[in-house]
Amino acid sequence: MGEQAVLTGMVLNAMPIGEYDKRITVLTKERGKITAFARGARRPTSQLLAATNPFSFGEFEFFQGRSTYNLAKATISNYFRGLSADPEAACYGFYFLEAAGVYAQENNDGLELLGLLYQTLRALENTALDNRLIRRVFELRILLAEGEYPNLFSCQSCGNKESLQWFSVKRQGMLCAGCPREEDAVRIDASTLYTMQYVLTAKLEKLYTFQVSEAVQKAFEQVMDSFFVMQAPCTFRSLEILKAIAG
Ligand SMILES: [Zn+2]
Repeated sequence: MGEQAVLTGMVLNAMPIGEYDKRITVLTKERGKITAFARGARRPTSQLLAATNPFSFGEFEFFQGRSTYNLAKATISNYFRGLSADPEAACYGFYFLEAAGVYAQENNDGLELLGLLYQTLRALENTALDNRLIRRVFELRILLAEGEYPNLFSCQSCGNKESLQWFSVKRQGMLCAGCPREEDAVRIDASTLYTMQYVLTAKLEKLYTFQVSEAVQKAFEQVMDSFFVMQAPCTFRSLEILKAIAG
C-alpha cells in the first residue's frame, strides 16, 4: 500500500485513464505539484467523482508508492461552483490552473502559489471585479511567487528610484528618463507603474481590492503580454479558448 500522505491542495487538471480511472495533477501546500492516480474516480457512485475535478480544493489522502501517488480519499472544502455557472469566468479559471501548473515545482513548498490561486479564483467568483484585471494581477504575482518578477522600483541601468518611465523586457524592468532607452522599451505612466508596484507588494488578501482606468488596464496588458505571455516556458492552450470567448 505504501506510505500515507495527507496533503492540502487543489486539482489543476484531470485526465481520463482506462475505463473508470483518472490521472490528476494537484498543487499541494506541502509538496508542490504532484501527479496522482485516482482509481474508479469516473464511476458514477465514486466518492472521488467530484473531488477529482479541476478547481476542487481541500484535503487529499494519498498512498504513496515507489513512483506514484494513489488517491484514497478527499475532503473538499471548496469546489468553486460559481465558476461553472459563468463560462467566461471558467475560461479564466482554467487559464489560471494551467499557468499555476506550468510554474509549480514538484517536491517543493507550494504554499504561496496555492494561496495565490485560491484568492484569484475567489476574485473570479466575485462578479463585481473585472476579470481582465484579475488576469493581469495573477500573471504578475505568479512571477513574484517564482522569483522571476521585473524590477519596478528602480532604474535597471543606473539605480535611480525617481523618474521611472520605460519598461523593457530585455532589461527585466524599468528604466529612468535619464538613461538611454532600450529599443523594446514602452512608456509607462505613473498610475500604471503604481498599480504594478502595488501588485508586487500587497498582501495576498488585499490583492483584489482595487480597480483601474481603461488606460491603465491597457498599459498593464501590454506589459504582461510581453513579459509574461511571450516569456512563458510554453504556450498556454487555455489562452486560445480565452481569447476566443473573452476577446
Ligand atoms: Zn537610469
